[in-house]
Amino acid sequence: MSEAVMQRGVVSESGRFDRLGQLDPGREYRLGIMGGTFDPIHLGHLVCAEQAREQFDLAAVIFIPTGQPAWKLDRHVTGSEDRLEMVRLAVAGNPAFDVSRLETDRPGVTYTVDTLAWLRDYYPDNVKLYFITGTDAIIQLFQWRSADRLAKLASFIAASRPGYEPEAALAAHERSAVKFDLHLFEVPALAISSTDLRRRRAAGRSVRYLVPEPVEKFIVDRQLYRS
Ligand code: NAP
Repeated sequence: MSEAVMQRGVVSESGRFDRLGQLDPGREYRLGIMGGTFDPIHLGHLVCAEQAREQFDLAAVIFIPTGQPAWKLDRHVTGSEDRLEMVRLAVAGNPAFDVSRLETDRPGVTYTVDTLAWLRDYYPDNVKLYFITGTDAIIQLFQWRSADRLAKLASFIAASRPGYEPEAALAAHERSAVKFDLHLFEVPALAISSTDLRRRRAAGRSVRYLVPEPVEKFIVDRQLYRS
């Protein structure tokens, strides 16, 4: 782990949630882990994290942008430091949110099992992990690296867009030999998508009000997604 991480905090940048679980060892704490490529992060992701926090009684949500996603090696993904910076700008101001460099700093391709195993090892048993991501990603969960181990490390919250039928995800779960603690929930604001935002920028169109203002400024200043 880099020196920068050690100076800031162990799990997340501020270190605010590093000691979660130690305050009252007799109590259960739920920690949300918001995993995604976040290329770019948008208001749908933020609403999703906030609603998951409320609905699943999460003490905090730590956003962990992927480093080098194994399943996207064949396409262009914005550099991990730029994606991390956009997440940092987006979550600033919410005391229950923070951003982590865990996957940005880990060399090689990113696998969720490595992240969750690290977190499981770090936190005491009274901290339960809830991995939040999109339902599209969850459909393939059963094929992710070390699926049987993954299922023991965390519960999974799959957020879907309006109109998206979660049946495919449920059917995949039924068929799978590995059983996950899986929760599905619909997030209306997820009608916004990163793919659509990249297309808008490439076509010279505005992303204003679809991403937080400082993120929009960053995208424009860095000329991201223009080609
Ligand atoms: P993706 O394939 O780009 O996204 C799948 C769908 O889910 C997209 O529609 C995406 O919308 C949405 N989505 C992604 N993250 C979300 C979030 N946190 N909340 C709500 N919607 C979200 O998936 P990805 O972003 O690359 O991967 C998602 C997470 O799954 C990451 O943490 C990744 O590391 C993990 N993953 C792990 C493995 C593995 O370990 N083998 C394999 C696949 C994925 P937007 O485009 O609008 O974000």
